[in-house]
Amino acid sequence: MYLMDYSDNYYVRTKAFNLNTNKLSESLQCDVCIIGAGLSGISSALYLSKINPSLNIVILEKNKVGWGASGRNGGQLLHSFSGENYSGQKHTQEEIKTLWQFTLEAVREVKKNIKDLNIQCDLIEGYIQAAVNKSHDEELKKYVDQLQTEYNYESATYLSKSQMEQYFESPYYKSAMYDSECGQIHPLNYCLGLAKELLKNKNCKIFEDTGVISYNSQNKVTINTEKNINIKADKLIICCNAYIGDLNKSLRRKIMPVKTYVSAFTQIPKKELDKYFRKPITVGDMLFVLNYFRLDSNNNLIFGGGVSYSNIDPINLELSLKKSIRKILPGLEKFKAWCTWSGHVAITVNRFPHIGSIDNNIFFAQGYSGHGLAITTMVGKMLAEVISNQNNNLSLFEKFKHKNFPGFGIIDKPLLVLAMSYFKLKDHLSLK
Ligand SMILES: Cc1cc2nc3c(=O)[nH]c(=O)nc-3n(C[C@H](O)[C@H](O)[C@H](O)COP(=O)(O)OP(=O)(O)OC[C@H]3O[C@@H](n4cnc5c(N)ncnc54)[C@H](O)[C@@H]3O)c2cc1C
Repeated sequence: MYLMDYSDNYYVRTKAFNLNTNKLSESLQCDVCIIGAGLSGISSALYLSKINPSLNIVILEKNKVGWGASGRNGGQLLHSFSGENYSGQKHTQEEIKTLWQFTLEAVREVKKNIKDLNIQCDLIEGYIQAAVNKSHDEELKKYVDQLQTEYNYESATYLSKSQMEQYFESPYYKSAMYDSECGQIHPLNYCLGLAKELLKNKNCKIFEDTGVISYNSQNKVTINTEKNINIKADKLIICCNAYIGDLNKSLRRKIMPVKTYVSAFTQIPKKELDKYFRKPITVGDMLFVLNYFRLDSNNNLIFGGGVSYSNIDPINLELSLKKSIRKILPGLEKFKAWCTWSGHVAITVNRFPHIGSIDNNIFFAQGYSGHGLAITTMVGKMLAEVISNQNNNLSLFEKFKHKNFPGFGIIDKPLLVLAMSYFKLKDHLSLK
């Protein structure tokens, strides 16, 4: 019997343990209140509690810890931002390097947490970024060169198709980049592992099934929950990401929740997998609507892809993913998925994350644009340090110009669909 308060997915079915969270029964005062118990919220709380263990920290979560994108993603642990196009931004070369370094530190910090806290979340290093066509191939060569020469990053190498085949082979891909530092984890177990560590400190509380409906800020912030119980806090951090709804309209305008899909295949015989995978590895391609998949240490194939801009899913999610599997891993589409699920990615117009502060006492982090598994840990660390006056990096994020999605709920979807259809068409044409 699986808990149905999480969406039914591979990670929930293979969850390592349950948490002992708290029950909200009366109004509370705290130093820091965080809305949202995904990786952004849990990490912010954990680092705050490490810096100052006597802080009273309250996390309010509408559903369960890791219920959102953090507990249902593709598990790909990657550096870099989703978009790396700085034209139109005012960052200096030095700042761009610092930001890229931040994303690399994020991958390293996740691994450090896994080791230090002994989190059982199936970390496997090794990532292939695969080129589908000639222009991807050229882009990859330039990217590897940039990583090596500008960022002094030696863990990425360009691979021709035959070199790629030492790790992974597919008729669909022309060449690849291999990155030995990026990789994969079981994201829900990582998130729960951080939360378990947090709850060792009795000054930190997580209230599940506690949605926030509004807040107002004067000297202190008053947070109003669905249970009609209020929390008063000196500081507030909003970590609701794609699920923010109407809580803060100006934050909501900066992101567009887009659905993507993942299937887990647990019954594919090893000899079939051996046709493609030389070892457990993580793969993502360079299409705008990308395919992202990985073979984990138990020979399970976790395959993600597709997008939808409405709440209406394709009639058969598994079948729609299998169209891609047939091209990339031909023959494997005949195996039945153990489960298939969807989740919302919060994308921003420029595909850089939207992180900053409102007044001096409210902070927010959202809009990782499908690339947040690693960065959320580092963003949590940064926000904790900013609140404790130990970090200046927030200004680098606040410097990003983030445009509103036009229309906000009325005409945004049609425009987005139009834009995405254009990119999908580009993907399609580039394959010809
Ligand atoms: C299907 C899918 C695949 C992905 N694959 C990858 C990948 O392979 N690699 C990668 O780097 N990134 C991936 N991502 C993106 C990554 O998962 C996210 O960027 C990251 O998890 C965001 O974490 P978060 O804590 O900011 O948000 P979430 O994990 O979404 O957490 C937000 C939380 O806020 C809660 N909440 C919202 N509103 C309220 C409210 N009013 N009151 C109380 N609580 C509230 C929600 O219930 C939710 O639990 C993927 C995302 C999806 C959906």
